[in-house]
Amino acid sequence: MKDDKTNGATLKANAGIDPIEARLDEFAASIYARRSREIGYPLNQQSRLIGFYKWLMGSGMNLTMVDNAGDPFMDDGGLMSTLEYEREVLEFFGPLFGFDLNDLWGIVTFSGTDGNNHGLYFGAKYLERKTGKKPVLYVSDAAHYSSRRLADLQNLDMRLIPSDVHGRMIPEELDKAIVDERPALVVYAMGTTFKGGVDDQATLNAVLAKHPSLVVYRHIDAALFGGYLPHTKYRDFVDRRVQPFDSIAFSGHKIFGMDEPAGIFLTTREVKENQNPFQVSYLNANMPMINCSRSALSPLKIWWIIQHTSREEFERQAAEMLENAAWLKGEFDKLGWPAWLEPMSNTVYFKRPPQEIVKKYGLAPDHDDRLGGDLSHLIVMQHVSKERLTRFLDDLKAAQ
Ligand SMILES: *Cc1c(COP(=O)(O)O)cnc(C)c1O
Repeated sequence: MKDDKTNGATLKANAGIDPIEARLDEFAASIYARRSREIGYPLNQQSRLIGFYKWLMGSGMNLTMVDNAGDPFMDDGGLMSTLEYEREVLEFFGPLFGFDLNDLWGIVTFSGTDGNNHGLYFGAKYLERKTGKKPVLYVSDAAHYSSRRLADLQNLDMRLIPSDVHGRMIPEELDKAIVDERPALVVYAMGTTFKGGVDDQATLNAVLAKHPSLVVYRHIDAALFGGYLPHTKYRDFVDRRVQPFDSIAFSGHKIFGMDEPAGIFLTTREVKENQNPFQVSYLNANMPMINCSRSALSPLKIWWIIQHTSREEFERQAAEMLENAAWLKGEFDKLGWPAWLEPMSNTVYFKRPPQEIVKKYGLAPDHDDRLGGDLSHLIVMQHVSKERLTRFLDDLKAAQ
């Protein structure tokens, strides 16, 4: 891999040899240089796949088209696929979220949104099967917009529940919104996108329990936090034996050091068996998932990453991210710059800095009148070290 010092001289030398590669080299060098300022989005910029690509190039698989059209839990080995590895990936993650291996079903998805798409679709079909009625979807207005987009796509009847200043669904507002005659499809946000708020499942579940006739399906959107919470003291908040839920989705590319979008969707066999049964004869399977062809390479890459990362290493990374986030919040406090950090979160949000800093660091904007107006946030991923944060704080002080 090229280091940061890739310079124009190397690029020029290539240009004489192969103009296609030269153009790509220049492009790659500028992307690689930009990566060091990337602290405003939840992407782990420490791609851990160098060894994977070395293996791949000599393997023969680099000359092969593989496709995971099929069910990872029904694989008979007959397809040109990596379904066997996909299943191992799912069986690695399942127990971390309290799933029993005998009652686990899931897929590696294309993204967090794709996982939420399955959560809403599976939830809606499950509830329709159980009750003969179409559900109402409840999700907070601070949750990632994908749930709203997907409700629109799936034509689901949605109630957007107001959130408090911490980005959490307000229990009283949920209570008011509940439609007693119809089943409830509830999306809990475990880490809202902007504030890193975590819906208080225990309190919200108590609200749902006040409606005894309500049939409920709970989907957790844990796109970012699902990658690290199981490796922290907060693990019970994503353990379905402690906080019951029916499915969960998280991203493969946020915490895990993937180099392209991917995600994980996990649910139970019971949910899988209560879907619209499309028996697909040529795949010899009941195919409840939305996509036919699915990536065979991304499950293999995730498999590679988990094979090369010990539990201790996952725990170390999670602890370091949370510690650095708390440190950053403390530094903002010292500066007297309004900033907030929710429990369990690696996302520090704060009064929006001057435009030149927003631009330099690619900071995402938000607005909350309850917190004085314009906001930005920093997401303390694995590559966002204290040194990097110190440079950011120095820029902020200089601009103050
Ligand atoms: C990033 C994110 C998503 C979307 O995930 P993609 O992989 O980008 O589709 C959904 N929900 C939350 C909470 C997120 O942080």
